[in-house]
Amino acid sequence: MGSQEVSTVDWQGKHVTVAGLGVSGIPAARALHERGALVTVVNDGDDARARAQAAELEALGVTVRLGDGATLPPSTELVVTAPGWQPDKPLFLAAAEAGVPVWGDVELAWRLRGDNGRKAAPWLAVTGTNGKTTTVRMLASILEAAGLRTAAVGNIGVSLLDAVLGEIEYDVLAVELSSYQLHWAPSLRAHSAAVLNLAPDHLDWHGSMEAYAADKGRVYEGNTVACVYNVADPATEDLVREADVEEGCRAIGFTLGAPGPSQLGVVDGILVDRAFVANRQKQAQELAEVTDVTPPAPHNIANALAAAALARAFGVEPAAVRDGLRAFRPDAHRIEHVADIGEVAYVDDSKATNTHATEASLAAYDSIVWIAGGLAKGATFDELVIGAAKRLRGVVLMGADRALIHEALTRHAPEVPVVDLDRTDTGAMSEAVARAAELARPGDTVLLAPACASMDMFTNYNKRGEAFADAVRARADESA
Ligand code: ADP
Repeated sequence: MGSQEVSTVDWQGKHVTVAGLGVSGIPAARALHERGALVTVVNDGDDARARAQAAELEALGVTVRLGDGATLPPSTELVVTAPGWQPDKPLFLAAAEAGVPVWGDVELAWRLRGDNGRKAAPWLAVTGTNGKTTTVRMLASILEAAGLRTAAVGNIGVSLLDAVLGEIEYDVLAVELSSYQLHWAPSLRAHSAAVLNLAPDHLDWHGSMEAYAADKGRVYEGNTVACVYNVADPATEDLVREADVEEGCRAIGFTLGAPGPSQLGVVDGILVDRAFVANRQKQAQELAEVTDVTPPAPHNIANALAAAALARAFGVEPAAVRDGLRAFRPDAHRIEHVADIGEVAYVDDSKATNTHATEASLAAYDSIVWIAGGLAKGATFDELVIGAAKRLRGVVLMGADRALIHEALTRHAPEVPVVDLDRTDTGAMSEAVARAAELARPGDTVLLAPACASMDMFTNYNKRGEAFADAVRARADESA
């Protein structure tokens, strides 16, 4: 079957088991039920919320089994799973034994696209350890600037299923995909795709770095125009090499340096394209200026280049790349400039919840008072500290696993002053900001980039970022 063709399934009377009530399970159950499938939802939990959700589905005629997500209902012909369900669960082992296919939410959306008689929009897909949301939103902004009907879908905004089955006929979708989703999406064939970077993450779920990389690499399978990789991260290029793509599909690199043929890169502060030009041996096309990208931090320029590569693969003109990048504003808590107080900049990158993200963040500033700590999720901090040591004016640590970061600092940056905050109450962030302000000198940046998850002290990274921003604004008001 041609890769962009729409597959059709006769759902009438088909026994489908949906694994997991939740953001993807409920809409999946509804969509399949509407198409005539005999749907059973199985769910591990059996709390009040699950019961209320179950009651709503049961009223439609869907069967729901609470408190047992492990046993496969005997007549099951297909399992549709929530992406987070770990592949070694007994339900999946039973499905494998019975020869029953397992689809994730992405596979389901991919298979249902076009089944309502509408045009099935091609997908431009983005995955990677960090930068997915940012890149997908930049891409959607560029596609919009080109006059195309599009949406950024995945973990953000519209869900994939809604985008595929909803009222709007899109020309193209900018799709964020996690490694979990890719694991469960065997027949997905994107028009073009990018893997932004590959650092160890979620290894407990995938089992190994190899399995994690293999799932990310699935995004390139069957691409028709371009497989976009990161020149600075050879593992991403390896994945392109291993992928089975359509004839004529090209490998396109992005780099923060000068681009070679079939690459996008940066020359004298200009984002240039040496891939989608008539004569790539001799020509390069100017796309935008580095200053058109917000924030113009190196990792974010890389995101912009990846977005530009996908847009150019789709045939977007250079001017729309520039306009789309100019119009783009990052989501909250991603290197967000909060205020300048006494020539010190205060920046909130609460979304830097792992060391890879924090490394990028720390690389963006010359002299930093770094606020870090929280739940380390098994990470080690030596490399992060070694890479940033020269640029650290001082460090303020908080949260459950702060000792791990402190030990790395003692080993690799003993001269850097460290404030170790032994408190986890709501006022802790205010004190962290106050102590950081004491350490900072004019020209410095106080950077919240915790390299850790937030749940030991906050509901989530948003709340952590808000606590930081509130504390900074309170100081700004005082000093005004
Ligand atoms: P994701 O959707 O992959 O979690 P986001 O765009 O939300 O990515 O960014 C998450 C975090 O990663 C932010 O803290 C940001 O500073 C950092 N980040 C963004 N892009 C990159 C990149 N290309 N390389 C490394 N870190 C990045």
